Amino acid sequence: MLDSFGRRINYLRVSLTDRCNLRCKYCMPEKGIDNKLSHDDLLTLEELYLLIEKFVDLGIDKIRFTGGEPLVRKGIINLIKEVNGLEKVRELTLTTNGLLLKDMAQSLKDAGINRVNISLDTLNPDKYHEITRGGDISLVLDGIEEAMKVGLTPIKINTVLIGGFNEDEISNLVDLTRKGIDVRFIELMPIGEAMDFAEDKFVSNRKVLDVIRDLVPVETEDISSPAVYYRLPDVEGKVGIINPISCKFCNNCNRIRLTSTGKLKTCLHSNREIDLKAAIRNNENIGEVIKEGILSKEESHHLEDREYIYRNMNQIGG
Ligand code: SAM
Ligand code: SF4
Repeated sequence: MLDSFGRRINYLRVSLTDRCNLRCKYCMPEKGIDNKLSHDDLLTLEELYLLIEKFVDLGIDKIRFTGGEPLVRKGIINLIKEVNGLEKVRELTLTTNGLLLKDMAQSLKDAGINRVNISLDTLNPDKYHEITRGGDISLVLDGIEEAMKVGLTPIKINTVLIGGFNEDEISNLVDLTRKGIDVRFIELMPIGEAMDFAEDKFVSNRKVLDVIRDLVPVETEDISSPAVYYRLPDVEGKVGIINPISCKFCNNCNRIRLTSTGKLKTCLHSNREIDLKAAIRNNENIGEVIKEGILSKEESHHLEDREYIYRNMNQIGG
């Protein structure tokens, strides 16, 4: 459906959990989540399916599962299978840190996931351990290999550029495109936990273009994609540059988000949330509540005025 600014809203990002098996410094508090959610705070798998079905009725045809770490949510494979059975769904994707991917890639593919985005900020095992507060990079690399093997492709690697941490690895990361992998550089966003971390470690993505001088622009048909794409000459994989801060893409925004606690967020950078879990449990007309939410989707974010949100990324689903 169209929102009140004429944007066609067809992309839903569903956070399956706020829990995670890593503690990335820009995303999660070191000790984990402060107020652990009780079972009752989370949408059940049945409620998730019911809501997704309503969203699909209203024109959502592209769904991404995320988190927290979506692969730690029990029952994920069955949920994906059910959602894949909805006739109007055109694309099912997933964003993961990749730790559990080696074992789950084939089941994800069989359940209906088309392709995966994998987060990886460094290729150095010690630095990976440091930024994720304890992660083992070999599990991620094995996960990427398995995902390629089973055809969850094209694989996209998401790299958050962090000042003084991984600027020196831009060239090595771009080299992954030679294996047919897309590598997307994302600017660090001042959200929740990252509020202080981000301000002094922010690096503009223009740095990628400064460092890799022979990148050639790639035409894209998808105007709603926040990434601008380039590629090395004669290389299959693409290099994506995502600048939520230094270059707004709100005019073409086609996405909305559902948190694991059932809140509809119509803008990542707004604190406005619509409680769909309460709507289900109060027997309200869910389709109407969602429709009203979409019609009042924010025109744009105001990060440039330092209007930041209080939730961490793990609670919203990146
Ligand atoms: N756990 C999964 C993962 O890491 O891919 C999915 C959820 S994670 C919140 C989704 C994406 O958000 C990751 O690529 C992560 O790097 C990114 N992210 C988290 N906090 C961020 C921040 N403050 N600024 C920019 N990206 C962030
Ligand atoms: Fe977990 Fe992903 Fe956040 Fe890292 S970015 S702490 S992997 S949710």
